Amino acid sequence: MEIQHVKKYFLSNNRAVKAVDDFNLVIAKGETVGLVGESGCGKSTVGKTIIRLLEPTAGEVYFEGTNIYKLSHTKLKELRKDVQIVFQDPYASLNPRMKIEDIVGEPLDIHRLAKGKQRKERVAELLNLVGLSPEHANRYPHEFSGGQRQRIGIARALALEPKFIVCDEPISALDVSIQAQIVNLLKELQEQMGLTYLFIAHDLSMVKYISDRILVMYLGNMVELSDSQSLNSEPLHPYTQALLSAVPIPDPTVKRERIVLEGDVPSPIFPPSGCVFRTRCKHAMEICALEKPKWKEVKESHFTACHLY
Ligand code: SF4
Ligand code: MG
Repeated sequence: MEIQHVKKYFLSNNRAVKAVDDFNLVIAKGETVGLVGESGCGKSTVGKTIIRLLEPTAGEVYFEGTNIYKLSHTKLKELRKDVQIVFQDPYASLNPRMKIEDIVGEPLDIHRLAKGKQRKERVAELLNLVGLSPEHANRYPHEFSGGQRQRIGIARALALEPKFIVCDEPISALDVSIQAQIVNLLKELQEQMGLTYLFIAHDLSMVKYISDRILVMYLGNMVELSDSQSLNSEPLHPYTQALLSAVPIPDPTVKRERIVLEGDVPSPIFPPSGCVFRTRCKHAMEICALEKPKWKEVKESHFTACHLY
């Protein structure tokens, strides 16, 4: 998937809210890119806009060479088979009045892919795939735990055999003990089915285990991108450094100083001039208020936008 100059602005009291400002990324087949940032930084909007659940303000997205923003409604429906999303909140994203069978089977109905016995079999297969049992098909969402509900959400996303899945904070609403199970399930499914993921999260703790590369966003802007290893061992951007310092280290002999960010994320309606992070950056210089830092490759395949480099 090739994302070029994607922007998504919303209107609020006649002012443009720049939820996503110039997003660029190429995601290779079979790859997992982690997308990280505090809530409200635009990451869910990126996830929805790049698969056209939201219409973009500007930009292009090519999926397997096809510009998905130019697709007609019929063709867009076809794209839905290849490109899916798993939502954050397994409590809110499953219809409480539908049986699991119908939640997981609904995409098959919409695309007229299976009915009757065939549909039942396919649903059973999907439930197996995500570690649930076919007997669960006749139950309702409230009968399941948070982790199980997320498995149901994943089964539904897999129903059409997609190639690309936006995982929009799939573990953020779950207990820490369950998070690793869901991450492992997603990894297994990826290997089995050759899936490609954009994995969205608000902190770096789990993302580093699942991602090949990690992209950090702040206030609608991309601030750093590199492979997971270098981002964790040598973060360049002051914002990434702060995010990383908040991740607990399992080894008690290793000390890492916690960088506490002062203040709140500014409103995207009135973002700071120059670097959007400058109001919270302890390295801020005069130029940071005057010029927006350019996106640069500082080390091999390690990019950031910051005047320190
Ligand atoms: Fe801090 Fe300036 Fe870099 Fe922004 S550009 S992160 S304000 S040093
Ligand atoms: Mg979100």
